[in-house]
Parts: sequence; C-alpha cells; structure tokens
Amino acid sequence: MRIAIIGSGPAGFYAAEALLKRSDAVVDVDMFDRLPTPYGLVRGGVAPDHQKIKTVIRVFAATAARPTFRFLGNVCLGRDVTAEELRRHYDQIVYATGNETDRRLGIPGEGIARCTPATVFVGWYNGHPDYREAKIDLSVSRIAVVGNGNVAVDVARILLRTPAELEKTDIAAHALKVLRESRVREVFMLGRRGPEHAAFSPAELKELGGMEAADPVIAAAELAHCVDPGSALDREKAKNLDILRSFAAREPSANARKLHLRFLLSPTEIIADSAGNVAGLALEKNRIETRADGTRAARGTGETEILEVGMVLPAIGYAADRIDGVAYDEKARVIANEDGRVVDPASRAVIANEYVVGWARSGPQGLIGEHKRASADVAKHMIADGARLAPRALPDRDAIVALLKARGVQPVTFNDWKQLDDAEVARGARRGAPRDKIVDVEAMLAVLAQN
Ligand code: NAP
Repeated sequence: MRIAIIGSGPAGFYAAEALLKRSDAVVDVDMFDRLPTPYGLVRGGVAPDHQKIKTVIRVFAATAARPTFRFLGNVCLGRDVTAEELRRHYDQIVYATGNETDRRLGIPGEGIARCTPATVFVGWYNGHPDYREAKIDLSVSRIAVVGNGNVAVDVARILLRTPAELEKTDIAAHALKVLRESRVREVFMLGRRGPEHAAFSPAELKELGGMEAADPVIAAAELAHCVDPGSALDREKAKNLDILRSFAAREPSANARKLHLRFLLSPTEIIADSAGNVAGLALEKNRIETRADGTRAARGTGETEILEVGMVLPAIGYAADRIDGVAYDEKARVIANEDGRVVDPASRAVIANEYVVGWARSGPQGLIGEHKRASADVAKHMIADGARLAPRALPDRDAIVALLKARGVQPVTFNDWKQLDDAEVARGARRGAPRDKIVDVEAMLAVLAQN
C-alpha cells in the first residue's frame, strides 16, 4: 500500500513507525508537512527548557531512515495539493495535522493589543515561522495567564526564567532578545476552578518551584479557601495539592519575580487603556457547583475584581483547523472520526481509506508518548482495511513530486532537513545551545539552495 501521512508531529511519526514495521504488509509512506522542518509539536510546541522531551526526535529520525519512508516538507494540504489529488495518488491517507488554533474566551476585549493567545506566544518563543513576526512587548510589569493547564504553566515559566536559564535552550533568538529586556515582575496564573481541578501535571507544577529567580506565590489561607471539600481527589490531583501547599509554606525571596497562583476566577472583560492596549482584566469570583451529570463546574458569584495587568495570555486549549475537502466536526473541533476512521460529520458513515491520529483526532489531550498506542491502533485498522482493498493502479510514486514541482512547489526531503538541522545545531553551538532555529521558510530554502 502507498500511504500519505499529513503532518510530521509525534502522532504522524508514531503512525508511520507502526505501519512501516509491520511484517505482514508492504507499505510505502510519504509524510507531508507544510513546513520544511519535521516534528510538529516537538519543535513548535514543547517548551525550549524541556529538552529531555525533545529527545523523542531520535526515535522519529530512525523511522525516517526506513527505506520506504519519504518526507515531503514545505507542502501544504489545501494550498499546494488538494485532498482529492492525494486520494488519487495514495491508497490511504492519515491526517496528523494537530491543533493549530486557540480556543477563545469569548469575552469583550479579546483581540486588543497585548491580548496574545498561547499559540502566538508559544509559536513565537519556539521560532515557528508563522509567529516569528508576532509583536510581543514585554515592557509591562504584570501579566495575566488565563488557564490552569500545562500550556499555561509553560507560558508562565518562560516569562519568568532568567536569560541565563533560557540561552542554553533552543529558544528562538528573537524571543531570547525580547526576554532579556523583559520588565515583567509578576505573572498571575488564573484558574476558573479550584486547585484540585487544575489540569496541569504534578511534574510541571513542581518545576515552578525550581526557577532560578522567580517564586510561585499562594497564601495558605487562600489555598485552603479555594479547595472544594466535595471533590474526590485522584493521585495526580492530590500530588498537585501537596505541591501547592509546599509553595504556600515557602517564604518568597525579596527580589525574585513572582508567579501568583490564583483560583476560582473567570475573566469577564479585557480592559483597554486610551491607546487600546491591555490595562486590566475584569474577573468574576466563582464557586464550585455540581452539574446534573455529577461533574464539578465553576459558577459565577457576581462578585468581581479588576486585576491590573499590561498583557493577557489566554492558554485555555487548542482546536484543529478545518482543511479544505476533509470532513470536520464543528462541535468537537477535530477531524470527524470514529476511533480514528474519518467519518461524514452528519451521517457518521465511514469515509473509506481516510484516518486521523493525534490531536486532530482527539482534541488537545494527552502527553506526547500517550499517542503512540493510539496511532498504532489506527495503523492496525488501516492494515486490516487495506487487506480488503480492491487492487487499484496508482500513478507512479514520483508523480506526486512532479505534480508539486510543476506548480512551483519545492518539496523538502529528509536529507534536506538534515542539512538544515546541521546548520541550526552549528548556529546554536555559538551560544552553548542545542540549536538556534532558522525561523523563516525563505531562509531555510536559501540554506538548501546554497548546499
Ligand atoms: P488543558 O490541559 O485542557 O487546560 C486548559 C485550561 O484552560 C484548563 O485549566 C481549563 O479549565 C481552562 N479553560 C478552558 N476554558 C476556559 C475559559 N473559558 N476560561 C477560563 N479557563 C478556561 O489544555 P492545555 O494547557 O492547552 O494543554 C493541552 C494538552 O497539552 C494537555 O494534554 C497538556 O497536558 C499537554 N501539554 C503537556 C505539557 C508537558 O507535558 N510539559 C506541556 C504543554 C501541554 P477547566 O478545567 O475548568 O475546563
């Protein structure tokens, strides 16, 4: 079978590996990515001070070295090639396109200057080409990060790390420059529910206590007041509470920057100053109530406060983008699917030979490694379905490349990427960092044209 995988992030690579290592099927995999660089979330999402997580790319590079695997970077589905064309050139298609859009707060003031969604801030510090020109102004002293997930934690940590902590990472050079000059003294991380409902994981929360020159701050009385006595605590949540209690027991150092952890607060409006920049965030205090289905939800009490901040960073979750010609579930904001088989969103009938893995399938849930099994399960369905496929004469394997080239699209191969990789690693060595990313697609193509 010839299979196209769209997206070269973890879920795509895990699917490729599961397909290519089968001994009962002969599979050719072409993996497309709209960027010239592979690895999706590992490169563009994982925080730069989490280098250990990024070592997973060694596993992906081993998959890419398999003889029947081909990387076609710098090719965007919906722009350079249509879904219909892929259907003609491949037996099966796997969408591994992730979640590239932010969920919105839906409150007045969202979208004003210095209200910056997590995708923009994360993409900017990670050198994602889409966000290299984002206007991130850290001349303000106080910032609100909305949300209590691991992305909110990443964002708060990167804002508060020292330049010395950051320069040894693969943070984008433009972001390092702005962060060196940052005037930020206080970050407020805001949860709409209580501490025991927070989505962050204990390891990520604990790390906030180990920053070189910034302290997590929460008063013991405030923490006790926010904990919901009716909540059943699993192991992770109990660990989170213990860590928060240990933060409450610490004496913050006088000169350290502060990360204020606040709970039971929902933003209701982003307030602008006369120049149209963020001046504050209106918050409503919440209490926890039980829904009809038994889950615990935040309800507004009507009591409000204004938090004076000069920037707001909503980090409240992501959603999948709609791709032209690909079935999309408007409600779940993912590619419409049942167990990874793409379906018509209205009738739920299976669309033959199309599959989806990773966050494009599940929404933004689960750590990177947790998608390995899910991608392998989808690969299993694919092999079983493929065994029932009526044989079909496909165009020559190189015909897709010829089609792209005829359109002026220059696919980037995995060997090309290795050249970019070497160039980035060499640039990074100059500042003692694992790499210094090239953040502009034109510049990447120029490096390749020189070699
Ligand atoms: P997330 O874990 O779903 O957290 C979203 C947070 O936003 C929750 O606290 C949620 O509160 C809150 N929220 C949602 N809508 C809101 C609203 N309208 N107003 C106020 N708060 C709102 O999402 P994420 O942080 O984007 O992370 C996505 C996935 O990536 C997760 O699986 C995460 O673990 C993973 N990740 C892992 C790492 C790591 O391992 N280091 C780093 C980054 C991300 P409710 O709970 O009340 O809905």
